[in-house]
Amino acid sequence: MSTAKGNGRSAGKSRSLSAAPLAARPVLVCGGAGFLGSHLCARLLAQGQHVICVDNFCTSEEDTIESLVAHPKFQLLRRDVASLQEDELGPLGAIFNLACAASPVHYQRSPLDTLFTSIRGMDNLLRMARRCKARIFQASTSEIYGHPTMHPQTEQYWGHVNPIGPRSCYDEGKRCAETLCFIYQQQYGVQVRIARIFNTYGPGMRLSDGRVVINFIVQALADEPITLYGDGTQTRSFCYVDDLIDGILRLMHADNEFSGPVNLGNPAEITVRELAERIIRLTGSRSQLHVRPLPVDDPPRRRPDISLAQQALNWRPRTDLETGLTLTIRDVEARLQRGEHTVLRRPAEMNRPLAGVSAV
Ligand code: UDP
Repeated sequence: MSTAKGNGRSAGKSRSLSAAPLAARPVLVCGGAGFLGSHLCARLLAQGQHVICVDNFCTSEEDTIESLVAHPKFQLLRRDVASLQEDELGPLGAIFNLACAASPVHYQRSPLDTLFTSIRGMDNLLRMARRCKARIFQASTSEIYGHPTMHPQTEQYWGHVNPIGPRSCYDEGKRCAETLCFIYQQQYGVQVRIARIFNTYGPGMRLSDGRVVINFIVQALADEPITLYGDGTQTRSFCYVDDLIDGILRLMHADNEFSGPVNLGNPAEITVRELAERIIRLTGSRSQLHVRPLPVDDPPRRRPDISLAQQALNWRPRTDLETGLTLTIRDVEARLQRGEHTVLRRPAEMNRPLAGVSAV
């Protein structure tokens, strides 16, 4: 079982850079029961903020926010952002949109839901922001860069995305959400803040999340084969969750006109094979690497250029991979001892291209 308290997400703990509440009015966190959303809710509550959490629990569970639910300033609404009406809630001080499955294995399972969560959900929330005159944050993603031909990726890069591949429901949905933000900003003066979030990990990720860090840790702790997709030479850059939340809050608190998009991530790049070897070492595991097919359109390299975040927000990540992995391993161990256990293996059909389309 996963609890906010047990996962370092207690509302009493704050590493926030700005201790002041964001707004006197309640703040809406959509996707607030998810991995990043639950950490964000905890941090906002610790700042004294009244938080309304909206989640449809399609990829999250209520026990993730167990300790937050008891907080007097926390309100939970079981709703889908794609059907949220702009006048459904009272006046809001700010809106955070983190509502969308982010793990490839989950978001590819219901592609239409993934696409419309980003597009309709974003439109509904932008209408709400316009009505309340509230600042709105959009959790965009490094996926909008697709198979990058520029390395590392800067915000000026337009991306290289397959519009009809298995990842497109997520990638194109997030790209369209950015477009919506800029239309609302230009036409209606809505204050938008967009972060392009690179791979993030840490305590509190569901054990069935399906993403690489959590899969490898669970497999290593059980001395089971480590599922290495492809030859493991593809790279990622992993940011510890607390650092990422600091970046999001800096972006939202900034009193200048800076709206982004801005990359938030840790520029320390590592191959997936090296990640597996490091997790085996840190857990003292007897696991062996087990090579599996590389998923279609799996990006070969990913690393953020964070110069803009450093300059505009004075932000950079503080937690190195070794420290972050150690904290995450401890959290996973504790949850396994409590009986929570599922690693999501990628179904074979997810490794096949769409009919008539070859992988890039
Ligand atoms: N990956 C892997 N084994 C796993 C899960 C993922 O080798 O059990 C690889 C995956 O193919 C990708 C990288 O790890 O190259 C990161 O995958 P993840 O699903 O975490 O997120 P992505 O960055 O692809 O969105």
